[in-house]
Amino acid sequence: MAEPKRKYAAHPESAPGDFYVINDECIICGAPHEVAPDLIAWTEGASSCIWKKQPATPEELEQAISVIGAACCDSHRYAGSDPEIMSRIPAYSDQVENHEEIAIQEHWKRFFEDIRRRRSIWSGEE
Ligand code: SF4
Repeated sequence: MAEPKRKYAAHPESAPGDFYVINDECIICGAPHEVAPDLIAWTEGASSCIWKKQPATPEELEQAISVIGAACCDSHRYAGSDPEIMSRIPAYSDQVENHEEIAIQEHWKRFFEDIRRRRSIWSGEE
């Protein structure tokens, strides 16, 4: 699978994939470890938290989404393009890197819903 395009340089020990932590921004809060013990670890020497793996199960995905809300810094990011995951990250926060993509998808969804609604009005179904 192709690597997602990330906006920022990830910590070099952060696992490849959609979720990552930006390099050199950690102030060692430890919050992500509490909500995602299966996914988040410290580097050796505990200078930064890192993603030790990407979520692979529904339970791990819950943990991953919780990290975005729990982190005391904005350094945890989602660089993927799954609209469902994006929509679950609080208020499409700045930590979701593909706002434009989901905005376009939402635009076309509403556009086609509107056409369907108008069609049913014109055909007397409504
Ligand atoms: S959330 Fe931010 S400050 Fe807290 S441990 Fe992770 S990188 Fe460090």
